[in-house]
Amino acid sequence: MPIATVNPANGELITSFDAHGEEETERRIAAAADTFRQYRTTAFDRRAAWLNRAADLLDEERDTVARTMTVEMGKPVTAARAEAAKCAKAMRWYAAHAEGLLADEHPDPDDVHDSGASRALVRYRPLGVVLAVMPWNFPLWQVVRFAAPALMAGNVGLLKHASNVPQTALYLEDLFHRAGFPAGCFRTLLIGSSAVEAVLRDPRVAAATLTGSEPAGRSVAATAGDEVKKTVLELGGSDPYLVLPSADVEKAAATAVTARVQNNGQSCIAAKRFIVHTDVYDTFAEHFTAGMRALTVGDPLEESTDIGPLSTEQGRADLEELVDDAVERGAEVLCGGRRPEELARGLRDGWFYEPTVLARVTPAMRIHREETFGPVATLYRVADLDEALHLANDTPFGLSSNVWTRDPAESERCARDLEAGGVFFNGMTASHPALPFGGVKRSGYGRELAGHGIREFCNATTLWYG
Ligand code: NAP
Repeated sequence: MPIATVNPANGELITSFDAHGEEETERRIAAAADTFRQYRTTAFDRRAAWLNRAADLLDEERDTVARTMTVEMGKPVTAARAEAAKCAKAMRWYAAHAEGLLADEHPDPDDVHDSGASRALVRYRPLGVVLAVMPWNFPLWQVVRFAAPALMAGNVGLLKHASNVPQTALYLEDLFHRAGFPAGCFRTLLIGSSAVEAVLRDPRVAAATLTGSEPAGRSVAATAGDEVKKTVLELGGSDPYLVLPSADVEKAAATAVTARVQNNGQSCIAAKRFIVHTDVYDTFAEHFTAGMRALTVGDPLEESTDIGPLSTEQGRADLEELVDDAVERGAEVLCGGRRPEELARGLRDGWFYEPTVLARVTPAMRIHREETFGPVATLYRVADLDEALHLANDTPFGLSSNVWTRDPAESERCARDLEAGGVFFNGMTASHPALPFGGVKRSGYGRELAGHGIREFCNATTLWYG
């Protein structure tokens, strides 16, 4: 895949970059490793001042960077601005909380005594150079979610961003540098995926985090395993969205639209499978389909656009294949199911797809097991909570999940039985710096955000004094 910005709204090549060769890559790894030696000893308040400055710069430059993201990967510009604002908020949150999250831990004095020590404690020390392999769907947020805690913990970062968002990747390197972080603290590697293995095998690289697809995660984890290096994997999802009879069904349907189509439907934590109790199924299906039909598909740079193009031509082709397979096997198209017919002249070569709702989906269809990365929802009718939970868990993924109910017993049952890294009740899944984020099963392992995230790339060191 060339390292280039191609506008998904019209297929136009905007700019392309030569990949860093071995020499430049070596220079950047060496700079990161050198910087780490000093940077690890800097005080929390120094790091916090730099991170707060990065947040201020990002706020000031929000409109410009939002436009860059939209042109690189097609998200509506309103969503791009919200993403930039969310990144600044997460930076400030970690600047304020990192020191407390990484404070020394003191075990119970009786246990310390029992271990034979006069004093014992746990100290969180940074691991070193962390390689971050990141996807294009939230080109700022995915990176900041890693970088803010990593830098506050005293680690340094090397970013290998997706090949279709090079301008955002370079912006991030520049942003951290201008904010005051030493030059080697956060560098972008303009490299293709085939060059990742060599970087990860480099002895100066201590660990890796990858957000992306399952094949990419498997490949990076295999290399890291071979090198005995720590990894965090944030992979795909096919989150269930359960609507039970006691729910506010109209609100559930309105939220379901946003939960499915945020980021043009290309979000790992988007609700993808809508599992609805038969008592409320018809009402939900009617409101949900009406909401999906009412969305405006068009130029993502327009303020009024709800749905822009898919980020890559291949992404649209993959989505079309899943829908076609489902329809051939008996799924009913309640809306969409095709490319939009009426698009402005300048957008006809863009990679658009209509918001789509499919009903009568069965386990025989590929769409039942695979991730739909685009504005396509699948609807299931169930007789009771047992059937709903069975269907919800009948997936290789386990990222997040959503449940609409006002019944406390049902909520408890879902909190106990849903196989996912999160259960969001009467709302949609969203990440927040103070709440851990991550999945189980094929959605990956490890956690980002909150204290859990910042400690992933720390050496929890036992200090024992005789
Ligand atoms: P992708 O193809 O896996 O790419 C993600 C990153 O991995 C890119 O930087 C890519 O580089 C690199 N990559 C791909 N194959 C690789 C390999 N064999 N070895 C090393 N690096 C490799 O994923 P995507 O299509 O960009 O993103 C969509 C996927 O990400 C979806 O499955 C989505 O659910 C998942 N995702 C998960 C989360 C989460 O938090 N769990 C968040 C967002 C997205 P190139 O661009 O150069 O190929």
